[in-house]
Amino acid sequence: MQAYRKPTFYSSYNFKKIPQVEARLSKDEIFAIEVISKILPFKTNNYIVDQLINWENVPNDPMYILNFPQREMLSEAHFKRMADAILANQSDKELDFLANQIRMQLNPHPGGQMELNVPSLNGKRIEGLQHKYAETVLSFATYAQTCHAHCTFCFRWPQFVQMDGYKFAIDEARLMLEYLKVHTEVTDVLFTGGDSLFMTADQLSIYIDAILDANLEHIRNIRFGTKTLSYWPYRFISQFDAENTLEIFQKIIRHGKHVAFMAHFNHAIELSTPIVKDALIKIRNTGAEIRSQSPVMKHINDTSDIWADLWKEQVRLGIIPYYMFVARDTGAHDYFSLPLNRTFQIFNEAYKKVSGITRSVRGPVMSAGPGKVHITGISEIMGEKVFNLTFVQGRNPDWVNKPFYAKFDEEADWLEGLKPAFGEKEFFYEKEYKKIMNEADKLLIHS
Ligand code: SF4
Repeated sequence: MQAYRKPTFYSSYNFKKIPQVEARLSKDEIFAIEVISKILPFKTNNYIVDQLINWENVPNDPMYILNFPQREMLSEAHFKRMADAILANQSDKELDFLANQIRMQLNPHPGGQMELNVPSLNGKRIEGLQHKYAETVLSFATYAQTCHAHCTFCFRWPQFVQMDGYKFAIDEARLMLEYLKVHTEVTDVLFTGGDSLFMTADQLSIYIDAILDANLEHIRNIRFGTKTLSYWPYRFISQFDAENTLEIFQKIIRHGKHVAFMAHFNHAIELSTPIVKDALIKIRNTGAEIRSQSPVMKHINDTSDIWADLWKEQVRLGIIPYYMFVARDTGAHDYFSLPLNRTFQIFNEAYKKVSGITRSVRGPVMSAGPGKVHITGISEIMGEKVFNLTFVQGRNPDWVNKPFYAKFDEEADWLEGLKPAFGEKEFFYEKEYKKIMNEADKLLIHS
């Protein structure tokens, strides 16, 4: 067993101490990091800095862009406001106030996460849970509200900058349990965050034991949403509670439930180190299945070769490719997003390059307000070029797998930018979706 290694974390306060930053970045680049990280979360660690980033390739290195704030992630106007405030030596309080003003303009909660997904029990909202699709409940455990590093594209960024009223938290496993007991339609509990495996084994046990001890037959799958394999694989090898964490997976399996390890790899580089390969073996030896998902992002993984390599390497290492997402419409979306047309081409070209067992992946998928919308093709129907769409998941399960069509649009990069094809006024689900939103609004006003 390797000696326990503790991560060294770097953020806006101490990143200048990273030797590679001092050696490789210009004064302007360092100042840009300082400005952006006042607004968007910035956290990295020594594993990423020393083993994943190729500093010879900076500033174009994908792992560098994945972790370090980039000048173009903010608009010119937002950047200038914050840069001027820093140069004018404004107080921390004033800078925080300005940062919050700018954050509110970056669509902090896309897809109606705040309004629509928080469930109630006996008329009281349970802020640490989300229940969007019938079968799956998401738990945002208090202890998992951070990650081993923060991705610059992350759509959960408001949780990390602690915007008032935006931090989901559940501090009582009991509340989660009460909810699950009465919702027998739920088959899956997805622990997420942040990163669910930022929790220690002891913290994780509070939630897992509550579910297992209650003998809830309808809960079949326990999922862990995590990027730990990519950002801190030592978590499963030499961290003080590595063995206990693996034991938790085995315990769940002994109780007859499936452990779905929902990993998050954006690029094959993340699968290249000896330590991540060791960690994968340890996890698979428990009986857990590892699936992987990622968005397509400009500057990081915007070619079909990168995706084909990523999926092929995943399958070779025993990981099931699961979703390719469209980058979400939040935070630094303008910096990362690609037109849907381009994203679809990347998926299509990559899909052609891999073998049948690798084609378990679905994409490109937009995780939008009404549900998970899958772009299944681009075709010409009755003389009109269209995007072929369907729901993989919908707020109403009846929407799932029902084909619908949007006018082809070269520039559109998200569902809201699409118009119905064939002269229709709205998509088939829109009336019902508006009704669901209105009802959620009324509930919020009265709660
Ligand atoms: S690991 Fe996941 S939750 Fe954490 S910053 Fe990255 S994308 Fe966001």
